Amino acid sequence: MPIYQTSGFEFEDPAVFADGMTRPDGAFVYARYSNPTVRSLEDAVAGLEGGVAAVAAASGMGAINMVLLGLLQPGDHVIAQHALYGGTAHMLDDLVERFGIQVSHVPEHDPAAVRAAIRPQTKLLYLETIANPMTQVADLPAMCAAAREAGILTAVDNTFASPVLCRPIEHGADIVLHSTTKYLSGHADIIGGLAVFADDALYRKVWSYSCALGATPDPFAAWLTLRGMQTLALRMERHCANARVLATRLAGHPAVAAVHWPGLASHPSHEIAAKLLPDFSGVFSFDLLGGRAAGEKFMSSVRLALLAPSLGGVETLILHPASTSHRHLDESQLAQAGIGAGTVRVAVGIEHAEDLWADIAQALD
Ligand SMILES: *Cc1c(COP(=O)(O)O)cnc(C)c1O
Repeated sequence: MPIYQTSGFEFEDPAVFADGMTRPDGAFVYARYSNPTVRSLEDAVAGLEGGVAAVAAASGMGAINMVLLGLLQPGDHVIAQHALYGGTAHMLDDLVERFGIQVSHVPEHDPAAVRAAIRPQTKLLYLETIANPMTQVADLPAMCAAAREAGILTAVDNTFASPVLCRPIEHGADIVLHSTTKYLSGHADIIGGLAVFADDALYRKVWSYSCALGATPDPFAAWLTLRGMQTLALRMERHCANARVLATRLAGHPAVAAVHWPGLASHPSHEIAAKLLPDFSGVFSFDLLGGRAAGEKFMSSVRLALLAPSLGGVETLILHPASTSHRHLDESQLAQAGIGAGTVRVAVGIEHAEDLWADIAQALD
C-alpha cells in the first residue's frame, strides 16, 4: 500500500466531489474524511475483528472520544466496568462533570450487575477485554448478552488482547476499540487508534462525527501500523510465551507478594480467561513484599527492561501505575482497581525470555 501523503484529492466531476463529502464509501475528497492509506488500515483491522467497517483515529483516546462523543448526549447513561485504562476513566469522569452524562460502574464479570444498573437512559456498556494494569478479563459473552437483552450497545476496548487473542464482535460486542499504538503497530513508533463496527448504520454515524471531531490519523502512521500488523500474530506468540515464563518464575520468587496475569491459576479471572482466550497476552503486574520502596528500587535496577510508558512494542517496558498511568485515581479508586502502592506493571517485549529473566532476577537481588 502506498503512502497517500496528501490533504486533498482533485476531481473532474463536481457531483462526485460533492457526494464524496457525504459518505465514507464515496470518492476520497479530503484526508480528514478519508484517505486511501488510512482506509487500507481500517479495512485490515475490520477484517481481523470480523466487523463491517472501521474508523481510524489519531490515537486510542481519539478513537474512544470519537465513539463516546459521537454516540452520547447529555442525559444519557453509560455502564462501565470498574477497572479501566487510566485515560478512559479520566474521560468518563469528564463526561459526568461537563456533559451531564451519568456513569455507573460494575465488575467486568457480573451480568447481573449490568441488569441492575440499566435505566431508561442507558445507551452504552463499556468494557475492556483485558484491563490495565491488573489484567482482569471481562466475561464478554455474558456481559454483551445482558446489554443486548436491554437494547443497549456494547463497546469493548480490545487493545490488550489484539484480534489475535480475542474478537469481541463474535461475543456480542457492537464496537471494538483499539489503541493501535500498542500491539497492532507493535514497534513503539506511532500513536494511533481505531474503532471497528459490527453494524453499518453505527459506522456511518461515527464516521460522520469523526469528520467533525478531526482526530484524524496521519497516512504515514497508518502505513507504519499496516507494516507492523504483518508480524502481529508472530509477535503475540512471543509476547504471551515470555509473559508466561516471567509471571510463573516471579510467582515463585521469595521477594514477590503477588503476580497478576490471567494465565496463572491464582488470578481471579483465570477461569473466564481460559474460556475466552487462547493465550493471555504480554502484560502483567506484580507486587513486591517490600511495598512501594521495593518497587521503586526494582524499577531503577532493571537494565534490559526500560522504565517507560506504553506497551505492545518489541521492547520490555515497566512502570509504576499508581504514580503514572493511574495518577488520576484517588486512594479508594486505586484500591477498587486493586492497584497497590508498590505494584509494578511489566509489558513484556519479544526479547529472549532468559535475557529478560536474568535482568529481572538481578534487579530483585
Ligand atoms: C494506550 C491505551 C489507550 C489509549 O491509547 P493512546 O493511543 O495512548 O491514545 C486506550 N486503551 C488502552 C487499553 C490502552 O492501553
